[in-house]
Amino acid sequence: MTVWLRDPLGILAEGAERGIVVSGGRIVELVPRGGEPVTPGAAVFDAGRHVVLPGLINTHHHFYQTLTRASPAALDRTLFPWLQALYPIWARLTPDFLDSAVTVAMAELLLSGCTTTTDHHYVFPAGLEDAIDMEIAAAGRRGIRVVATRGSMNLLQRDGGLPPDSVVQDEDTILADSERLIAQYHDADPGAMVQVALAPCSPFSVTGSLMKATAALAARTGVRLHTHLAETADEAAFWLASFGCRPLDYLQHCGWLTGRTWLAHGIHFDAEEIGRMARAGVCVTHCPCSNQILASGTCLVCEMEQARMPVGLGVDGSASNNASNMMQEVRAAFLLQRSRYGADRVSHLDALRWATEGSAACIGRGAELGRIAVGMQADLALFDLDELRFSGALDPVAALVLCGAHRADRVMVGGHWVVEDGAIPGLDMAALIRRHNAAAKALHAE
Ligand SMILES: [Zn+2]
Repeated sequence: MTVWLRDPLGILAEGAERGIVVSGGRIVELVPRGGEPVTPGAAVFDAGRHVVLPGLINTHHHFYQTLTRASPAALDRTLFPWLQALYPIWARLTPDFLDSAVTVAMAELLLSGCTTTTDHHYVFPAGLEDAIDMEIAAAGRRGIRVVATRGSMNLLQRDGGLPPDSVVQDEDTILADSERLIAQYHDADPGAMVQVALAPCSPFSVTGSLMKATAALAARTGVRLHTHLAETADEAAFWLASFGCRPLDYLQHCGWLTGRTWLAHGIHFDAEEIGRMARAGVCVTHCPCSNQILASGTCLVCEMEQARMPVGLGVDGSASNNASNMMQEVRAAFLLQRSRYGADRVSHLDALRWATEGSAACIGRGAELGRIAVGMQADLALFDLDELRFSGALDPVAALVLCGAHRADRVMVGGHWVVEDGAIPGLDMAALIRRHNAAAKALHAE
């Protein structure tokens, strides 16, 4: 199927004023002002109501946390007490609860213009050993690209771990399952719909031995590495008190300072550390909503980009952010970083770049995702400006960020429409919300 998305109201690409041609799941032609497609036989999709963006890429999330949004026990807390309040609740996760959480998170992401998402799942109570398999199956049903990051925690409470012992696994189990998931699902080819990455929850929730073994397994199998790092000042103080070093020093000690690593949050770094990460090829995912709600601090995105370090964007878990909306995250990143750096250093285009090109770099897929250009995957988010919030707006791309776009009208992944007319084909949204609400209540009631 070859389609010309004709005459968009706006598009985030140079030389595509008359739209783009999509064929075989990829972008095959940009049609400039005054031009016509040279690709033969293209059907026409009239994009006259639409502002076209590269599909947004979410590079940090915990789907299961959609079940603990606005959870009373966790309100108004910073990271460590917030985690301590929520872990006993998360320990009650069941496959059915997780399934509703994953479906909600993916639906919310798709409807916000997200075409590729990661998920960092690290809670494995008995009965939930197949959590990653479930997520990958759910992504297949929705048609969203996924990088399932196999999370892990192996530090028991008596050894200083935060979560209940019932949700942690031992090192051998974690490594064997990680290897199984890579062999079963990881597709290294361009256009892959499913990839696997390895993701200990954080260096303070796993042993050094597991950190090192995970890095070695990733190197041997060619997958990427992900973890939380330098999220709070408490964390930096903990490393200094416990090990006499900074979080990044410890990461380096574990063999993680490599080009296959991307870190969530990355707030509490100094200039020397940013330079060290940049030289190693480490990327950071900025999570502005989560960071503001947990009062964790603000990621130094401009210093990082100045050092040629890619910065991506992630919604983070829906317990901290409380939403899974990538377009709202773009606006949050824009507002937070503009207030930090000023109007001459951060524009709406920077925030959009973090959510697209920057995020694609985080997951090692900058050559095929995150830009509207010939040869790239046909992953696109189309927004209309027909809502009251856009009335009177002139620059269509700026309007999406400045006026607060939150819902895509159409979303395409690999040339297939996965959102049409603001809805997900085949998904009964009212039934999903009922089921998910019931699961959240049940999780808190036990
Ligand atoms: Zn997180």
